[in-house]
Amino acid sequence: MSERRSTLLAALRQAVGAAQVLTHDDPGADLSAWEQDWRQRAHGRALAVVRPGSTAEVAEVVRACAAAGVSIVPQGGNTGLVVGSVPDDSGTQVVLSLTRLNAVRGLDAANLTLTVEAGCVLQTLQEHARQAGFLLPLSLAAEGSCTIGGNLATNAGGTQVVRYGNARDLCLGLEVVTAQGEVWSGLSGLRKDNTGYDLRDLFVGSEGTLGIITAATLKLFPQPAATLTAWAAVPSLQAAVDLLGLAQQRLAAGLTGFEVMGQFALSLVARHMPQLRVPLWQDTPYCVLLENSDSEGEDHARAQFEGLLEAAMEQGLVSDAVVAESIAQAQGLWHIRESIPLAQAQEGLNIKHDISLPVSRIPAFCDEADALLQREIPGVRLVNFGHLGDGNLHYNVQAPEGEDAKKFLAGQETLVNTLVFDAVARYHGSISAEHGVGSLKAGHLPHYKDPVALGLMRAIKQALDPQQTMNPGRVLVSP
Ligand SMILES: Cc1cc2nc3c(=O)[nH]c(=O)nc-3n(C[C@H](O)[C@H](O)[C@H](O)COP(=O)(O)OP(=O)(O)OC[C@H]3O[C@@H](n4cnc5c(N)ncnc54)[C@H](O)[C@@H]3O)c2cc1C
Repeated sequence: MSERRSTLLAALRQAVGAAQVLTHDDPGADLSAWEQDWRQRAHGRALAVVRPGSTAEVAEVVRACAAAGVSIVPQGGNTGLVVGSVPDDSGTQVVLSLTRLNAVRGLDAANLTLTVEAGCVLQTLQEHARQAGFLLPLSLAAEGSCTIGGNLATNAGGTQVVRYGNARDLCLGLEVVTAQGEVWSGLSGLRKDNTGYDLRDLFVGSEGTLGIITAATLKLFPQPAATLTAWAAVPSLQAAVDLLGLAQQRLAAGLTGFEVMGQFALSLVARHMPQLRVPLWQDTPYCVLLENSDSEGEDHARAQFEGLLEAAMEQGLVSDAVVAESIAQAQGLWHIRESIPLAQAQEGLNIKHDISLPVSRIPAFCDEADALLQREIPGVRLVNFGHLGDGNLHYNVQAPEGEDAKKFLAGQETLVNTLVFDAVARYHGSISAEHGVGSLKAGHLPHYKDPVALGLMRAIKQALDPQQTMNPGRVLVSP
């Protein structure tokens, strides 16, 4: 063991206790849970996994790594989809796991805020808020494992963005350990604070490249009196966009979810999870899942929903629809939507795109991108679904039926990404809507991000992390 490494390990053990520093030298060591990403796109090798239990310990770990010139990969629930939370394979990076920072520091009912530590699991926080009579609206399929620190570091989106915004919009303040190991205590519950640059917005979405988020103050909302879910078959993507406009007009702030699912995406759920009984998918190119959250009550919500669906049918925007009769039925419909990524994984490896576009341009984009892909790779299968209400599509590409998925990925991923991302650029969209950049998309940013914006980002990185030890190779690659 090199002297530098053993000095660092001794400092880390001193900082957090020997039991919270895991290395490959430990008897029976298996660090794969921290070294393997969720999509199995990368398996790294850590110098050590360190699990501090407090902000002060995080700061000490960061100072020890900075002194040794060793880089840090922050990790929450490790559910990220762009390879941002696992180490590279050099064996020289420290994984800093935040999961032991899992205390709720306080709920301010009058201020409608919840202050929590970064390692709290999102679902635990939703439940905490619910038991106190409030709503924490951030919601995504990984909520049983992802942490609020990871959600903020990636500016996660999810299913309620159409009404409540992304993680950024739900965050009023942060506590951050800087790359130098200082603690910035910015846990403000203020909705107005114009005292200069917004540091909170700088760290939200920075994917661990500027500092470590150790705690956050989040916005809470009143619980809706009733929440209803409907599932509608629509004759085209344009009809889905028009239905969104109608739903926004009629339900206003009551519209809390608007998801679109292509027929092939639903056919994969039907094929791989036959127990789920997918409704209305066989005779329609797209289905839409709508959620209406109402402050008056169930009768009001149902009348509004039925009025909306009747009007949509009269206008030819919906060919058939069901409104869930119970909470269990509503959960079942959401479960089908959230099972698409898993069904897709069971079908085989695929090329994922998490893109956003102006909602109005989505039908034309899909027509163009579908045709381009079919022309270049005949028989290619498109798993198109996503948060249409936010202009966010998961426009994923699966090998033609019967073709080896690994071979397809190796041979076609570059071409597919270029075709899709170039089309996104032509339609003034973004190549990352809600998943972030990580290392998977870092190489694409120089081609698709405004050069002035990229220059400003590099300047910020240099100013805040001059040693380049905070999650290097993520978001920004060397020029
Ligand atoms: C089934 C499934 C469904 C998903 N659905 C959605 C969805 O609908 N919307 C969506 O936006 N995402 C979705 N995701 C992606 C993922 O869940 C989110 O990106 C989530 O926010 C990551 O949280 P995490 O705690 O797992 O973070 P990790 O995966 O551990 O980390 C993600 C990034 O944040 C950094 N990081 C983590 N914690 C901290 C911290 N405390 N301080 C600084 N940096 C940190 C890491 O270094 C890494 O770069 C989904 C993932 C899965 C597996």
